[in-house]
Amino acid sequence: MSHSEMMTPVEILPWLGKHWSFFIQRLEAGRLAHALMIEGPAGCGKMSLASAMVAQLLCCEDGPLACGQCRSCKLRAGGAHPDYFELQPEEGSEVIKVDQVRSLIAKLQLTTSASTRKVAYLHPAESMNGAAANALLKSLEEPAGDTVLILVSNNPSRLPITIRSRCQTISVAQPESQLVLDWMVKTSGKPEAKIVAALQAAGGSPLRTLHYLESSELDAYPQVKQGLSTLLLHPASVSLISSQLNELNPVDLWRWLSMCTVEVIKSMMAGTALSWLPSNVELRDKTLLQLQRQADINRAMSATPVRGDLLLQDWLIRWAEQIV
Ligand SMILES: [Zn+2]
Repeated sequence: MSHSEMMTPVEILPWLGKHWSFFIQRLEAGRLAHALMIEGPAGCGKMSLASAMVAQLLCCEDGPLACGQCRSCKLRAGGAHPDYFELQPEEGSEVIKVDQVRSLIAKLQLTTSASTRKVAYLHPAESMNGAAANALLKSLEEPAGDTVLILVSNNPSRLPITIRSRCQTISVAQPESQLVLDWMVKTSGKPEAKIVAALQAAGGSPLRTLHYLESSELDAYPQVKQGLSTLLLHPASVSLISSQLNELNPVDLWRWLSMCTVEVIKSMMAGTALSWLPSNVELRDKTLLQLQRQADINRAMSATPVRGDLLLQDWLIRWAEQIV
């Protein structure tokens, strides 16, 4: 990647701007902590931020952005940087094991060979088991030489407080929906209505929104809304709607049913109307909550050999019955 092609994570994901500036300021002032914890909900760009930091920390040239040209940058881009270590659960496992951490610590003791510092990247940090976290703790207490550890976590509360307290925390919050919408309208080239639907389906998570925009999963969302609306006006059409919706991918279908229900609950709480719902019906919020929970349970069950058509029919009957 040439210098001109490189963009800061801020240009790519604008809500990361303040975190990137914080990092650069600390780095330039020589006050960057030995361990950074980037935390926050999934799908907000924490890993993009971490990768940009890794690149910046390893580059041997001065400048506000990794140059992409020096030997260190080329080694990193080729995935063979001798001073860079990435730790995540091994294939088939969900935990980072103590042996992995011990091996990392041993490597961090060695002198650098291509960069001026060593960088380790651990993700997801909460997947360290107790022994692994304890082993890491020692190296957080006595960091070796010019070493920077970057931990990334969706779920920092699952990490021991002793680990968290030794890291400089960078909290990446989910950006405001309006900011994500403006950014996507500008950069994605997709129609605004589709972006709004994707954003809703993704619960506001920007990277999941992008995923929906680029896949066909979202195409069925309007059909699900249409089906639910029809049922409220014509409860007797349950069999028909059920057989239509049963054609959809069950995981997507249950996600959309859950999302639609959440949308209805939110609009009732806010006292606003939803364009896809008939305006003259009133629904029971308690039943809606149960239906939403049931949709999530059914989504989890759709991976198991169950009679999905029966679950769906039952759910739709309850949906049609909830008119006050
Ligand atoms: Zn470089």
